Amino acid sequence: MKKNQGKQTLLDERYMRMAFIWAENSYCKRRKVGALLVKDKMIISDGYNGTPSGFENVCEDENNVTKPYVLHAEANAITKVARSNNSSEGATLYVTSSPCIECAKLIIQAGIKRVVYADAYRLSDGIDLLNRAGIELVAVGVTADAGEETREVAEAACDPAEHGGTGGVDEP
Ligand SMILES: [Zn+2]
Repeated sequence: MKKNQGKQTLLDERYMRMAFIWAENSYCKRRKVGALLVKDKMIISDGYNGTPSGFENVCEDENNVTKPYVLHAEANAITKVARSNNSSEGATLYVTSSPCIECAKLIIQAGIKRVVYADAYRLSDGIDLLNRAGIELVAVGVTADAGEETREVAEAACDPAEHGGTGGVDEP
């Protein structure tokens, strides 16, 4: 059980690093968000925040305010799978920022059962709604410039010697 949990955490972190890389596709300047939908160990959809298909690739207006028709990464991933022959039923959503309440509604209705996120969004109402719907929520400590360094830090944190404890640090 514990071993499987460790393996799941490792997979969650790897998918999250991919989601961060996917966020680089976003042409939004204020904030770049990436999302992946994973089902049965397959990436079935992906998304990043941006304007709808056919619109200019500019997210902000002249006052640097995000345009109201910009789709969030989660919405793009969910609507992309809607156009495919696959289904988001029972899938896991990886998203680099915690979902807002509008995306939380879509996540619930799309039948997604698990949401893994990295940065906590300033408002928690999206997360609260997902919680109410009984969706499993997992926060992972992966950042935009993750790569190998985060991995090393995480492994170092698991080293019992780092936790102090009853000695063993002052080896000859
Ligand atoms: Zn959203």
